[in-house]
Amino acid sequence: MAKFCTSCGAPVEEGQNNCTSCGAPIGGAQTQAQPNFQQQQFQQPYAGGVEQKSKMVAGLLQLFLGGFGVGRFYLGYSGMAVAQILVTIFTCGIGGIWPFIDGIMILTGSVKTDANGVPLKD
Ligand SMILES: [Zn+2]
Repeated sequence: MAKFCTSCGAPVEEGQNNCTSCGAPIGGAQTQAQPNFQQQQFQQPYAGGVEQKSKMVAGLLQLFLGGFGVGRFYLGYSGMAVAQILVTIFTCGIGGIWPFIDGIMILTGSVKTDANGVPLKD
């Protein structure tokens, strides 16, 4: 009884392991691809109990207490907060415009993350 290649349909002689036409293996020994186990990835970029700082709180703190760098301290930018305090002191308050503008920028969303790179929540 003649066999035919399951791949290309060409007649295959008895005893042959591979099709002479296309080279496919004969005898139903079709190789099955191993099913891949798909790893489920949970999209929780801030898992682990990392608390997101409030943009509103940070902005308002910076707006009203920016001369003391409170908003920046709240966000963890202690270096910038200290700089804002020093600038405010050494300019007799005139430099306080910087933390004031900074507070507006936080409220308007120009500052998107805290010092640890965690996005601010609304
Ligand atoms: Zn074939």
